[in-house]
Amino acid sequence: MGKGKRNKKKADLQKTMNMFSKIPNNCLNCGETFDKTNKEMVQKWRVIVNNEPASVKLYCPDCWEQAQATLEYVNKQQKVEEKTEQDKPQDDYATWAYNLNKTREK
Ligand SMILES: [Zn+2]
Repeated sequence: MGKGKRNKKKADLQKTMNMFSKIPNNCLNCGETFDKTNKEMVQKWRVIVNNEPASVKLYCPDCWEQAQATLEYVNKQQKVEEKTEQDKPQDDYATWAYNLNKTREK
């Protein structure tokens, strides 16, 4: 904690800013030309900046949609795996069974 960490954060930010100036001129997927001076394009196109490893990726709206669909699929797969991993509510089940027996006794 302290000065060193804060400096590193600042360096990371500067690195990110530098990378924004290195935005590609074409869609990474289909190669469509990106016009940085076109406001509509700037709003709709997606820039993905990674620090580690350093890379700037540019997607046109169509390809971004496709990429999102793929990402969503991957995320869903991961969520299912996570849920299976965490889904061991033994204590909850014990409580539930206890309550059930209690209700029956009445
Ligand atoms: Zn594209």
